[in-house]
Amino acid sequence: MMAGDDTGGDDGGAGHDPAERQMRLLLALRSRGVTDPRVLAAMERIDRGAFVRGHFEDRAYDDTPLPIACGQTISQPSVVGLMTQALNPGPRDTVLEIGTGSGYQAAVLSVLCRRVLTVDRHRRLVAEAEEIFRRLGLTNITARVADGSRGLPEQAPFDRIMVTAAAEDPPGPLLSQLKIGGIMVVPVGQSDAVQTLIRVTRTETGYAYDELRQVRFVPLIEGLGQT
Ligand code: SAH
Repeated sequence: MMAGDDTGGDDGGAGHDPAERQMRLLLALRSRGVTDPRVLAAMERIDRGAFVRGHFEDRAYDDTPLPIACGQTISQPSVVGLMTQALNPGPRDTVLEIGTGSGYQAAVLSVLCRRVLTVDRHRRLVAEAEEIFRRLGLTNITARVADGSRGLPEQAPFDRIMVTAAAEDPPGPLLSQLKIGGIMVVPVGQSDAVQTLIRVTRTETGYAYDELRQVRFVPLIEGLGQT
């Protein structure tokens, strides 16, 4: 602890106010390779604390994934940053997100693009995320209960597709719902192992694949959830 620090005891940082903790989170993001100023500004604007409840609330500004309802997780902030950076959404883009979860990733995307459509197979997660979007005044996000492995054919094609659950392969319906020149970011691999985050770019003639890094996501499961 620094000399002259009068914050009242060594609490490991948990007692600092949210603005200060949010600043520390932004420093952590930079040190983990989130360098795009637009992405950093979007993540500065969206308070992760709004998306975490219960006894994990005081860890909302740590660079770590945390449990949410329905046995799912809110992703690690640096992974949200790196995926958003790789997706590179433009201000006129419509983005489809598969796996609303807490709604945090959709909220970050909503600052950077024209419209976000986000789907989750759990009704409860969609309802809770919608409530947070309303509270934060994020009016360009539409959340739906749907099986995202089929995409959203009636709204396709999309400029960008962000998949936040791991598939064994990039789902065919999602590939076909990408515009030419469009980008999809998706974790690929077996659900109980380390997966590879890949970026798929649709070209005039096919698809180009880049491997980005190792990640670990909950699995993409077909069909709707019970809750
Ligand atoms: N993007 C989220 C984290 C997502 S966790 C956030 O920012 O908090 C992965 C989510 O994908 C879970 O909520 C899970 O219910 C959802 N999911 C898994 N399979 C799905 C499918 N086939 N369709 C839609 N959502 C799915």
